[in-house]
Amino acid sequence: MTPNEYQHPPGHPQAVADGCSCPVMDNANGNGCGYVDAAGNPLYVLDMECRLHNGAPEPNPQDMCFEAETYARLMWTLTKKLFKLSQEFFGLHITDNPV
Ligand SMILES: [Zn+2]
Repeated sequence: MTPNEYQHPPGHPQAVADGCSCPVMDNANGNGCGYVDAAGNPLYVLDMECRLHNGAPEPNPQDMCFEAETYARLMWTLTKKLFKLSQEFFGLHITDNPV
């Protein structure tokens, strides 16, 4: 589960019960810190150490050490995703067996 998938916002009573260590008062019990983003969604004060909402960025692949097999699998997954995205983006229909 990534932090973004946790359903209760920082400081919400249920989040606190689940182990959230974000500020409760600053987040008005899960209602936000009083500011909103460009889309109007409430912003929250996060505890960087909170295991539910930690604000740590996704690990940078360059900072990780892979076994060759894991690296190959990751690259293959990314290649397939890129291929699918480029098909959608350019409207291409590429087949494995060109006539
Ligand atoms: Zn939290």
